[in-house]
Amino acid sequence: MEREYPYLEIDLAALRQNFTAAAALCRAVGIQVAGVVKGCNALPEIARAYRESGASELASSRIEQIMQLRQAGIEGPYLLLRIPMPSECDEVVRWCDTSLNSEITVLRALEEACVRQGKTHRVIMMADLGDLREGFWDKDEMVAACVQVEREMPHLHLAGVGVNLGCYGAIQPTPEKLGELVAIAERVESQIGRKLEVISGGATSSFTLVHWGTMPPRINHLRIGEAVLLAKDLHDSWGIHDMDYFSRSTMRIRAQVLEVKKKPTYPQGTIVIDAFGHKPTFVDRGIRRRALVSLGRADVGNLEELIPLDAGVTVLGGASDHCILDVEDCAQDVQVGDVLSFAINYGHMLCATSGRMPIRYLNL
Ligand SMILES: *Cc1c(COP(=O)(O)O)cnc(C)c1O
Repeated sequence: MEREYPYLEIDLAALRQNFTAAAALCRAVGIQVAGVVKGCNALPEIARAYRESGASELASSRIEQIMQLRQAGIEGPYLLLRIPMPSECDEVVRWCDTSLNSEITVLRALEEACVRQGKTHRVIMMADLGDLREGFWDKDEMVAACVQVEREMPHLHLAGVGVNLGCYGAIQPTPEKLGELVAIAERVESQIGRKLEVISGGATSSFTLVHWGTMPPRINHLRIGEAVLLAKDLHDSWGIHDMDYFSRSTMRIRAQVLEVKKKPTYPQGTIVIDAFGHKPTFVDRGIRRRALVSLGRADVGNLEELIPLDAGVTVLGGASDHCILDVEDCAQDVQVGDVLSFAINYGHMLCATSGRMPIRYLNL
């Protein structure tokens, strides 16, 4: 049985507009954009939208997503974003054109997998410039590893170097940081006696340098997901409000109202522990009108961060299968059976695209 509510609505025209805008601004300064699909569980419709909007390649952190897209007939090239597990090197070579790397033992395993399969594989070597997730910390070790790939691993093609910023350490990409990456690339180039094809400057957070016109000239590749999927991070968290070329209404969830009643705002009885092991606190605001919708943590994760799109609706909380809303100040007279809409963040998108919730596409 295909359930009707709740469902995720995705406006593919808005998404295409976002990717086209990002790709055009990047192209103007010599940067190619890999379309990152991991945030939406690699929905094929979105991968296709990226492709149609100028993605130079499609990228995911998870190899199974790359396999699914290839099997859905969506053409690559494909880039694996998470540095490979030693146990997946055969699959990486089989399914991905390029991978990001930071461990010489894994590079050796990739070389051996290539020999077994009679293939070649492109690698981008990752530098850690302070964000403290993946990448070489010791830059001498990194340059030596690049030289080793170039000289001793004939089935691997050293495509270039890259960096990830703004993830674990929340480090801001700056012209100085990306200049460090270019300097590493140039050290490698002088050792191997040729130019590198790719200097990959990061993700959505690095796109800020394109927007501001401060990207160092030799950076020629970015890997972008959030800025085109939702376009909220740079607007809401970074406070950048002049990226008018991005639509922030690419996705919304629609859920149906199950109950509407006037109830106290302060629970009655002894407050112990809620369904998730927390002792909640409440503010007594008297009797107010509230609505329950059929949307829970099982569907979207964190309910409190959902953004109601109907004026006057606020999220009070909920549990696995319900979301409780205050609708006292709502202009419209909310009734059982009504459908309410919510804007979502990255975490909600990850949950909502994981297969449980029906998806409806606009402008397919
Ligand atoms: C997730 C990821 C990206 C894309 O990040 P966004 O913030 O969604 O643009 C790029 N590079 C790597 C290595 C990633 O893991």
